[in-house]
Amino acid sequence: MSDCLFCKIAAGDIPSAKVYEDELCCAFRDIAPQAPTHILVVPKEHIGSCAEITDANAALVGHIFTVIAKIAAEEGLTGGYRVISNVGADAGQSVPHLHFHILGGKRMPDQMV
Ligand code: AMP
Ligand code: ZN
Repeated sequence: MSDCLFCKIAAGDIPSAKVYEDELCCAFRDIAPQAPTHILVVPKEHIGSCAEITDANAALVGHIFTVIAKIAAEEGLTGGYRVISNVGADAGQSVPHLHFHILGGKRMPDQMV
């Protein structure tokens, strides 16, 4: 999608602090971190949110979760971490391109799961 921030970051057209990249997805540090480690993992293909996950892209989403586990290990998140994907306005999704937040490096609040 030509007017999508995370499509542009994934394509390298907008700079980011990338920590991982392969042919299907990439990961970069969140510009406004909410934890000592706060990384976003996004598919290179435009998918709007979890609401658009289908049988056709489920393997890609599964692959992203293997990448999440690798990144968490590389970041040394041995104490645990949280994976979040906001979907739509009520959840506060601000970028309409599927992304998974990896948050770690501190004890997460007990509220909001
Ligand atoms: P969400 O609110 O779940 O849609 O998450 C979007 C995230 O993207 C927020 O945590 C933002 O801080 C982050 N963000 C927005 N623009 C950029 C950018 N240019 N580089 C890295 N992260 C960004
Ligand atoms: Zn996009």
